[in-house]
Amino acid sequence: MSGLTTISRTPRATAQADGAGASETLSEIWRALETLTDPEIPVVSLREMGILRDVRGDASQGYEVVITPTYSGCPAMEQIHDDVLTTMRQLGHKASVVTQLAPAWTTDWMTTEAHEKLRAYGIAPPLACATSAAHANASESKTHVLTFAKRTAANQNIACPQCTSNNTTEISHFGSTACKALYKCLTCLETFDYFKPY
Ligand SMILES: [Zn+2]
Repeated sequence: MSGLTTISRTPRATAQADGAGASETLSEIWRALETLTDPEIPVVSLREMGILRDVRGDASQGYEVVITPTYSGCPAMEQIHDDVLTTMRQLGHKASVVTQLAPAWTTDWMTTEAHEKLRAYGIAPPLACATSAAHANASESKTHVLTFAKRTAANQNIACPQCTSNNTTEISHFGSTACKALYKCLTCLETFDYFKPY
């Protein structure tokens, strides 16, 4: 996992029993789930966030929607869980939500669309995780410790989402939510949230 990993937008055809019909149904499900957003960042879809991982199953057996929380104990997950089930019910499908914790979510799973939308929303998107390898090792050993490392802020400037100036400074390591830091732009003097990479 290096740099900005793009998540495949194509649903994995886990159920191929009915051929084209089944894959059409899966496409329809992905399109419907695409309208669901992260409750904390309503402009970015669950797929773009890298939260929505997979849809598998078939019409007769029912579907499993696989999601990975952005960080453990994220209060938004309950909302996401309910939203997925409501959407599946509206489509007339039996469904359950599977929460997959390994591999652990990383900001590297966020798509470039997510980055652009965050910026437009006034949140500086996360820089690529400098320690993806260490992150992966931690996940494997199941001792994933949630650390919002200061390294990024210390040696790289975060561009202001308002005016794109790099002349910014961290005011508080914890912004409106634990996963964001509060920054101030020294050029336009606006404060903004920075989505911390992890
Ligand atoms: Zn600025």
